[in-house]
Amino acid sequence: MLKSYYAGMEIDAPCGRCKGETRHRILSITNGTPEKLICATCNSIHKFRPERPAPSPAAPRAPKMATAATPRPASSATRFQELMIAEQAGSRALPYSPSHSWTEGAWMDHPSFGLGKVQRKAGRKAEVLFRDGLKTLISA
Ligand SMILES: [Zn+2]
Repeated sequence: MLKSYYAGMEIDAPCGRCKGETRHRILSITNGTPEKLICATCNSIHKFRPERPAPSPAAPRAPKMATAATPRPASSATRFQELMIAEQAGSRALPYSPSHSWTEGAWMDHPSFGLGKVQRKAGRKAEVLFRDGLKTLISA
């Protein structure tokens, strides 16, 4: 059902100033629809607003920024576990003893630190990587 509008016609329309639907008089018509209205209540002149506001299209969701997977440096615990799994250390570890000559790559079973792998041998010391980190132990 198409209404025919004419200048001077009174219509009910939402008024921004009155915060509600009020009686308006059409001041001008464009293409058969009211363009300017004057509010009979507050006498403000404003553009005609359609009674049912067009639903605002949902804002297109910004594509989620692909967070570049920055490889974190492996913690000593992770590195330790990798080594342990890779080498099935449990079966190869020897109980720690300061009188044993620990060589690089050897696995030890330390009473306090648990399983560890000798990273470096320097004189009478061996740097051993444990789950907790690198420890320097006495070696023969
Ligand atoms: Zn008004």
